[in-house]
Amino acid sequence: MVFHSRTHSGAAMAHDKKLKALACWMPLVAAVVLLVTAVQGQGETPSSSDCTEAGVEATDAGNDAEEPCGAHPCGQAGQPEPTAADHVAIVILGAQEPPREGRAPTLPLRREGFTVHGTAAEAEDATAVEAVLRAELALLPAALPEAMALRAIILCTQLGVQPRGASEPSPRAAVCDFQGAALYLDAALLASRPQHLRHLLHHELFHFMDLAIDGRLYLDPQWERLNRRGFRYGAGGAASQRSRRVRSPDPPPPGFATHYATTAVEEDKAETFAVMVTDPGGLTARREGDAVLAAKVAMIEHRLAGWHESLDESFWQRIAAHRARQEQRRPDPEEDGAAVANAEEGTPDE
Ligand SMILES: [Zn+2]
Repeated sequence: MVFHSRTHSGAAMAHDKKLKALACWMPLVAAVVLLVTAVQGQGETPSSSDCTEAGVEATDAGNDAEEPCGAHPCGQAGQPEPTAADHVAIVILGAQEPPREGRAPTLPLRREGFTVHGTAAEAEDATAVEAVLRAELALLPAALPEAMALRAIILCTQLGVQPRGASEPSPRAAVCDFQGAALYLDAALLASRPQHLRHLLHHELFHFMDLAIDGRLYLDPQWERLNRRGFRYGAGGAASQRSRRVRSPDPPPPGFATHYATTAVEEDKAETFAVMVTDPGGLTARREGDAVLAAKVAMIEHRLAGWHESLDESFWQRIAAHRARQEQRRPDPEEDGAAVANAEEGTPDE
């Protein structure tokens, strides 16, 4: 199940203005805040916001095992083409080995309106998460990380976000730090849930892309007009964390990729993208009888193609082909499902 909070946001308009205001402070802020390492591609540091997740609903039916061709979707022999995996530093918080460049990240991380907490990740958890991340990032074009202003994915555990004024942090599986161009993930929560991790990763990546496209996350009237008349989103991810509605095992309502997509416009877009990438086959079947969902998929395709030339029709064809191969290699769906269920039982925030 997916959770996302906007712990420092007020009205959508006000928040987008705040993002711009924070961007203006970046030359000063950058000198004192955590410097997240960058392996390559020194894109401009984006404005700051928190985008937090505390779990994700498995919507793809992929194989938990990382397939041999995961490092390169075409599966060709020889020197593989660079991918996004070559341009995002995956940093294990508290690891002995420091990042190749820059200083090692530390937590807590204080941002305007909230603080990110976390502790060092267990090596075994971090290794498992990193393998999935690298395979998934390898599906994405090499130029994307710089374009979306993502330099690093930081693996830790006991990840949480504490809004200003809150007595304690609330647990999260993921936190977007747009200001630091970094994504924080709780390796302990995600290590045994690769299906969830795939969905979560692409959900979070879309938030970075969404912000890069027009500098706004929480205001999108064009998108909202795709919904049926009278529909109103929920109160956002933070308010929906304990909601039974987003945890429902029932199929998502018409017009939405997942239940969580109904909680906020930015989550709707991120969830749609995540399902487009992780379960294109299942989504194709659903959109055929769902004009609203089909329009949302088309809008994401259109926006991404207009934003970055690498996200053209051939990109989606490669994703679909990769997932089809992944599905064929899936060893035993029952075992796969049992593994996910067992993992969820041990997830403290669900
Ligand atoms: Zn989100």
